[in-house]
Amino acid sequence: MLIDVHAHLDDPVFDKDLARVIDDAKKAGLRLIISAGINHDSNLKTLEIAKKYKDLVLPSLGLYPIDAEFLTKEEIDNEIKFIASKKPKVLGEVGLDGKYGKDMGKQEYAFRKFLFLAKKLDIPIVIHARNAEHKVLKILEEINHNKVILHCFTGNKSLIEKANKLGCYFSIPSIICRDQHFQMLVSMINIHKLLTETDSPVLSPFPNKKNEPKNVRECIHWISKIKNITPEETKKIIFMTAQKLFLKR
Ligand SMILES: [Zn+2]
Repeated sequence: MLIDVHAHLDDPVFDKDLARVIDDAKKAGLRLIISAGINHDSNLKTLEIAKKYKDLVLPSLGLYPIDAEFLTKEEIDNEIKFIASKKPKVLGEVGLDGKYGKDMGKQEYAFRKFLFLAKKLDIPIVIHARNAEHKVLKILEEINHNKVILHCFTGNKSLIEKANKLGCYFSIPSIICRDQHFQMLVSMINIHKLLTETDSPVLSPFPNKKNEPKNVRECIHWISKIKNITPEETKKIIFMTAQKLFLKR
């Protein structure tokens, strides 16, 4: 009963072997993959993939912060209208990116709109907050929503504590096997607030290989080790958290 709450199955690197990737994920025990769109074309492709593999893949529609920068406010509004018309069960990837961002005002405009939509529809939202963790938390403080998932959160200890106080969930990437920051994050947060993800095809736990949803096994291994509980128990708790957020609707 493994879950990958953040992958990009629409990425062109999966074009040739997606059926095999899905098959391997099922064999590894995956029960849910949330595939995230990052712009209009990516959202369309994500919807198609989710339709084809509907027993495993749930589409998450969004607008990546850097992609939002290329759009006018009107185009952002139109994309949000399009997404709302698809009756989404989860939103993302959205958020703020201070590392590669050039127009933070535009990013923030899109992010706030998505957050309002998630709140209105009462659905989870998967948030990217690279080098903008402080700002993201400030906005979350203002627009409080109880179904926020911070994906690959790289904020420091005090920001982790702040996010925890705001009730955020933390999605732990498979690269935890070689990243002490995420190991620390897991040790700080109650297991009932943790989820697992790969961010496939990037952030592979294995150097020089593309990442795949089956690698969430790495997350379970590390979370169970840090929390000192069995992998079976870890899987069960995380599955129940995911079920509560994404499946019971
Ligand atoms: Zn991503």
